[in-house]
Amino acid sequence: MKIGILGVQGAVAEHCISVKLAFSELGIDGIVISVRSIRDLKDLDGLIIPGGESSTISRLIDALELRDNIITLAKDGFPIMGTCAGSILLADEGDFSVERSDTKLLGLMEMTVRRNAFGRQRESFEYTIDIEGIADNFPGVLIRAPAIENCRGDCKAIAYIDDYIVAAKQNNLTALTFHPELTKDTRIHQYFIKEIADKN
Ligand code: GLN
Repeated sequence: MKIGILGVQGAVAEHCISVKLAFSELGIDGIVISVRSIRDLKDLDGLIIPGGESSTISRLIDALELRDNIITLAKDGFPIMGTCAGSILLADEGDFSVERSDTKLLGLMEMTVRRNAFGRQRESFEYTIDIEGIADNFPGVLIRAPAIENCRGDCKAIAYIDDYIVAAKQNNLTALTFHPELTKDTRIHQYFIKEIADKN
């Protein structure tokens, strides 16, 4: 199995480490690469879009001409997981009325996201999260995290902090507004690997 981490900006190395650890915990022979070109997307079984700065990542996706390829793969059922800024990019709508952004969304999941939704008081915090169908009591790390304001159509909310949606699932696509790669708990990466294995 070959998993790619979009390697243009953000928590790329951390996701690589988590995927490798999850492979070994599952006893799966897999490799993980950093994706920076159309060629890197070839032969992949799944892609993770990491956290970082959503407007920067979106700009680099265009600079490297990856946008159309990622969209086509997603529509063909290819598993993609976006974390934090990555979850923003997966959305089809952004509420940028408070926190402005020139981010060009990939528009793959029917949900509205809001940047830095937890405000200045809770810029960076940890919260134990139950993620439906993935993991209970997951140690969520939130860093200037977005929230999902609403899910529409086939997009389903699967985790909450208070009234904020912090994870959503739409078929082959998974959005998490927190950082699973910043903990030693690899259950979310294992889930992603198993999702790919079940599909292949
Ligand atoms: N606030 C960032 C953004 O809007 C996301 C933060 C993160 O990925 N840790 O892009």
